[in-house]
Amino acid sequence: MRIAVVGAGVIGLATADALLRRGAEVVCLEADVPMAARSTGSSRIFRLAHADPELVGYAAAARKLWTEWSDRAGVPLVGTEGAVLTGPPARDWSAAMAAASAPHSLVDDVGSLGLPVTSVAGAALLDPGGGVIDVPATAEFLRSAAAPALRSGHVHRLDVSDPGVTLLGSFDPVHADRVVVAAGRGTWQLAAQVGMYVPTALAHHVRFTFRLSDPAARPPCWMDRTESWRPGFTTYQQCSGPGRWSVGASLPAEDAAWERGRAAVTARSRDLVRAYVREFLTGVEDEIVEELYCDFHPGLGDGVHVAGAGPVTAAWGDNLFKHAPAIGASLATALLDGTVPDIPPA
Ligand SMILES: Cc1cc2nc3c(=O)[nH]c(=O)nc-3n(C[C@H](O)[C@H](O)[C@H](O)COP(=O)(O)OP(=O)(O)OC[C@H]3O[C@@H](n4cnc5c(N)ncnc54)[C@H](O)[C@@H]3O)c2cc1C
Repeated sequence: MRIAVVGAGVIGLATADALLRRGAEVVCLEADVPMAARSTGSSRIFRLAHADPELVGYAAAARKLWTEWSDRAGVPLVGTEGAVLTGPPARDWSAAMAAASAPHSLVDDVGSLGLPVTSVAGAALLDPGGGVIDVPATAEFLRSAAAPALRSGHVHRLDVSDPGVTLLGSFDPVHADRVVVAAGRGTWQLAAQVGMYVPTALAHHVRFTFRLSDPAARPPCWMDRTESWRPGFTTYQQCSGPGRWSVGASLPAEDAAWERGRAAVTARSRDLVRAYVREFLTGVEDEIVEELYCDFHPGLGDGVHVAGAGPVTAAWGDNLFKHAPAIGASLATALLDGTVPDIPPA
């Protein structure tokens, strides 16, 4: 069976790797540089904590596969910092973790958790299985694992023939029995050619990195949903390297709207996140040392979305990195079986 994977971000490479290990003939076509689009940067948050028990279970399956990847890579790809959720969703997420039998606790004294803040209203959910994903090490591992399948090429068209699919673009046509489109921002155009709808609306997002005053500090990853600094302003934060603290904020929709343009949203985000760091955090210097921009499809949350049309499967979502090894395994199994994978939705 010959399978084509479109896109060499973390999802395409994870899928190509899982297919190669199952003995399939695989070609993974990448228009640009592997891992350079939405999968770029220094770090991501891994967490078992989710709002939905099925997603907690899926993250637990992913965590086991992250350990296998780490063993194969020879370095730990996920840290042991843990993850903390503060704010109103903490109790519901705690119930979801309990339903999925995932280790967790609700902590009243947030001051004991090592977060860069003196106090936060309400209880916090502690997810000891969370931690920082080392993105450069993951990229190096996946590029090498999927190397036999990787080819440079921009896929312009999917021509569904009987049997299979012909991929046309900036390369000699490739014929495959099945295709998985994991092309991030490029997924909707290819999916539309075979009658699948993938969300097209986009919004801007920027993550900013600051210095920790104590370079040896290693706080847990933190999702701050308290809105205690300002209503409508929530963040995710993580130690993105020794002495580095990265903060991404969800701005009110009108502040991040696509029509405002990248430069305006970046400037607005910069002002707000710097003020948040200065006024709300402790032990974090407010000078920005790195900015990481991406576009995203608003409203997809933590869900992993998959759809199929004949021999073509498409996978998309906004917070896919943590689930990547599980998504790759699910897609590989389903492609080889000729089914659409059963992945928990949003
Ligand atoms: C700042 C930031 C913070 C994030 N934080 C987290 C987090 O903490 N935890 C988490 O789990 N997730 C997080 N995410 C989201 C996560 O990184 C993405 O969901 C994930 O990396 C997407 O991977 P992907 O493979 O689907 O897409 P991409 O990495 O975008 O890969 C798609 C690839 O397809 C290629 N391509 C597109 N069109 C074509 C075509 N027609 N032909 C050939 N190739 C094509 C592109 O060049 C690209 O390389 C974050 C993302 C960003 C940017």
